[in-house]
Amino acid sequence: MNKFCNNSDIIEIVERLGNKKDLFSGKRILLTGGTGFLGRYFVEVFDLIAQNLVEKLELVILDNLVSGCDLSHKFCDYDHLKFVNHNVIQPFDDGKKYDYIIHAAGIASPFYYKKMPLQTLDVAITGTRNMLDLALKNNAKFSFFSSSEIYGDPDPREIPIKENYRGNVACQGPRACYDESKRVGETLADIYHNYKKLHTNTIRPFNIYGPGMQENDYRVLPNFARSIKKGLPLKVYGSGRQTRTFCYITDAIIGFLLVVLNGKSGEAYNIGNSEPEISILDLAKEIKSVVGESVKYEIVDYPNSYPGDEPTRRLPDLNKAKEHLDYEPKISLNEGLVRFLNWSNLNYID
Ligand code: UDP
Repeated sequence: MNKFCNNSDIIEIVERLGNKKDLFSGKRILLTGGTGFLGRYFVEVFDLIAQNLVEKLELVILDNLVSGCDLSHKFCDYDHLKFVNHNVIQPFDDGKKYDYIIHAAGIASPFYYKKMPLQTLDVAITGTRNMLDLALKNNAKFSFFSSSEIYGDPDPREIPIKENYRGNVACQGPRACYDESKRVGETLADIYHNYKKLHTNTIRPFNIYGPGMQENDYRVLPNFARSIKKGLPLKVYGSGRQTRTFCYITDAIIGFLLVVLNGKSGEAYNIGNSEPEISILDLAKEIKSVVGESVKYEIVDYPNSYPGDEPTRRLPDLNKAKEHLDYEPKISLNEGLVRFLNWSNLNYID
């Protein structure tokens, strides 16, 4: 185990990818947001993949460290990994020829996008445009990290949510900076696919969690893990009846890599878990059953720091990812919670 992840999870991801990982042989990949929660997994996974390829892949990581962790020390050790401290709202071109661009930079935690709405807009809009221009120059395959938030608060008749659902999204309000800018990012990727014939696709992650989420991430599972460590009650916001589906990080990273490798151009893919759809109150109860009777929870009003105007239900339809990519999440909520809470118990400060 290291501070950012369980090594066994990285091995599991690479093993489950099977021969597909060989498609990265000799490729040059640009990853934006490489020090964020998802980005760090890409770095670890590509590092392990590289060690087993006949022709090594080369990974260049862009990040301005606004919400990630400084990992630049790690990259000194490897000639196939390079870190560049760069804000993607500025154009980037190091003259290298890239085969893949994975645009994962963004401010994804509701607490942080409420705090930094303009930066949130800039990275999803200007940053995406800049990375698309670089992809166009290189004729690189481009994958954009969007979000399940682009569906907003879905009409109950549209659940489970298919990719062709247009959403129910507020253009004003505490989540608008994130939801609307991710929608524009998707539009940009679609325009480059349609008008410039660039290979682009979009990934819509649904509540991904796992080891490596920072203690001050403020999303629900790190918040609950921190409260457990401190012996405080889990705080369930609002009514507690709002639902989510939670996807363990190994399943998610496999899904993301399948989109990068095999996603069709011009398509968007839901990546997550379709079961169980669970209310946040029931999530607190599930955690109590995993950790023990000492865990207490309480229902509270939304704190001012949190964007409360939130989706009532969120549940992905994964059929498209299954049909196009053979994507199938395998880690149950119980198993994922055990892995995450064991990790946070060792790594979060008392
Ligand atoms: N939530 C909660 N307690 C917390 C943090 C979040 O009850 O300490 C709720 C929040 O209201 C939402 C769900 O947990 O219904 C997931 O919130 P998160 O911020 O993780 O991500 P979201 O799905 O809203 O993007």
